Amino acid sequence: MSAPHLADSLIEEKPPVVVVMGHIDHGKSTLLDFIRRSNIVAGEAGGITQHLNAYEVTRPSANGERRITFLDTPGHEAFTCLRSRGASVADVAILVVSAEDGVMPQTKEAHKSILESKLPYVVAINKMDSPRATPERTIQSLAEHDILVEEWGGPIPCAKISAKTGQGVDDLLDLVLLVAELEQTTGDRSKLATGVVIEAHRDESRGIAATLLIQDGTIKKGHFVAVAGSLAPVRLMEDFARRAVDEATFSSPVNVIGWSDMPEVGAVFSTFLTKKEAEVEAAKKPIAPKRSESTVSEGDMIVVPIIIKVGVSGTAEAIEHEIRKIETDRLRFSIVDSNAGSITEADMKRAASKPGTILVGFGTSLDPLATSIRDRMNIPVKTFTIIYQLVDWLKEIRDERTPLMKVEDQLGLLRVARVFNPVKGKQVVGCRVPEGIVSVGDKVKIVRGEETVGRGEVTGMQKNKSDAQSVHKGDECGAMIQSKTDIVEGDSLIAYKVVER
Ligand code: GDP
Repeated sequence: MSAPHLADSLIEEKPPVVVVMGHIDHGKSTLLDFIRRSNIVAGEAGGITQHLNAYEVTRPSANGERRITFLDTPGHEAFTCLRSRGASVADVAILVVSAEDGVMPQTKEAHKSILESKLPYVVAINKMDSPRATPERTIQSLAEHDILVEEWGGPIPCAKISAKTGQGVDDLLDLVLLVAELEQTTGDRSKLATGVVIEAHRDESRGIAATLLIQDGTIKKGHFVAVAGSLAPVRLMEDFARRAVDEATFSSPVNVIGWSDMPEVGAVFSTFLTKKEAEVEAAKKPIAPKRSESTVSEGDMIVVPIIIKVGVSGTAEAIEHEIRKIETDRLRFSIVDSNAGSITEADMKRAASKPGTILVGFGTSLDPLATSIRDRMNIPVKTFTIIYQLVDWLKEIRDERTPLMKVEDQLGLLRVARVFNPVKGKQVVGCRVPEGIVSVGDKVKIVRGEETVGRGEVTGMQKNKSDAQSVHKGDECGAMIQSKTDIVEGDSLIAYKVVER
C-alpha cells in the first residue's frame, strides 16, 4: 500500500545516500571528515559538535545545487547490520582503497557486501599524497579481484584522491552524482514520509531521540512518526546540523525527539497525520532483527547466552559484529536480548533464568536495584566504555568455557622410498624427511594418497648407518615401524603427538 498523499505528486530526483566502505585504516573516516568540513558552510559546521550519524552536502551543478547524503558510520558494520534487517539505506557506495596497500581483506568483504546488495559503487584510491602511493599497483590489485576500473577499460568509475589534502575529492563527489543519476531514483515530496531508523538513544534531558533517514515523502511538524513498538509526535525535529526544522524530505537525516519507546535501529518508520493512525502502527509487534544465528546447540558446540545493554542503540550492532568475529567452531554466543538502556533488575532476572547467561553493558551502567542484587545473584555482569576491553572480556569467557579437546599436533613427516624385509615382526623402511623432526617413540599415521590407512609407532631409527634418536628435515634415514598395517613405497608417515587444547 502506498502512503497517503499530501497534495498532487511532486516527483523529483532523489539525492543519493552514500555509504563509505573499505579496509580499516584506508582512510574512510578521514574522507568523511574532509567532506563534512569542506562542503558544509562554516556557520553550519560550527554547529555540528554532536553531529548525527549522517550528514548532507551540496554540490554545484549545471542545473542548480545537488544534494548528497553521507552515512557517517565508516566501516561496513553499520551498513551490514542495517542490511541484515532488510533495510537498504544507501544508493551508492564509495569503496576506499589505500594506494599504499591495495586490496586488503576488508576491501574484499566490503566489495562482496556491495555486490550482494546490488549497490552501484565508485572506487576511491586514497592516500595519493603519500610517497608510498602506488596507484598502478593498486589498480592492478583491484583488477585481480574483479574490480575493473574505467581507466583499465572496466565499468567501475574511479577517482584518485587524498582524503588528507582533499586532492581529487571534488571529482569523487561528481562521480558519485553521475552514478546516482544513472540509477534515476526519484522521490515524491507530496507523500507522507517513510524511511529507516539509523540511530536511537536516550537523551538525558529531552527523552528518546532517533535519527531517521527519510527515503521518500515529507515529514512536517505536527505529523506523527511511528515504528512497530513506538511513536513520536513531530514537535522537536532537527536537521543533520542540529538546527530545528519544520519540514524535511527524502534523503535527509532528521533527529526526532520524544519517542514513547526506544525504536530499533533498522526499523522502518511511517508518518501519519493523526496520533490515532500512528498508534495503530506503534501497536504492532517490533520485528526481531534477523540474526545469522539464534541458538546453536548442535553436536559439541557450546553456546553462551548473552544479554547486551547499550547506551546508544546503534552500538549494539557493532558489538554483535565483534562477537561474531571471536566465535569459534567450538563455542558460539547466542544473543538473548540486545537493547538500549541501563541494566535493570529485569535484565538480571532474565540472565538468572537461563544458566550460563552473561550480561554485558556498553556505555551504560547498572541501575541501583540491579547493583544491589548483583552479588546475591552471582551472574557474570560487566560494563565497559571501551569496545576492545569488552571484547577481551568476552574472549576470556570464551576461553574459559571452551572444553579442551584432544588434537593431534604434527611433529614431522617421513616419506617412504623403500620397504625392506621385516625384522622381528617390525617393518623396516627407507625414508626421506621432507618436514619437521621425527623421533624414536613417536606415533605415526600411515597415509596413502589422501587417506589414513593405519597407525603405528617408530621403534628405532638409523641415520648414516648408525642408530639415531631423531631425524630432521632434509635427512635420509631407515626407520623401524611397529604397525598392523603393511607399509608400501610412496606412503607418508606423519609423526604426531596428542595434546589437549
Ligand atoms: P579508516 O579506518 O578507514 O577510517 O581510516 P582513517 O581515516 O582513520 O585513516 C587511517 C590513517 O590513514 C590515519 O592515520 C590517517 O591520517 C591516514 N590517512 C587517511 N587518509 C589519508 C591520505 O589521503 N593521505 C595520507 N597520507 N594519510 C591518510
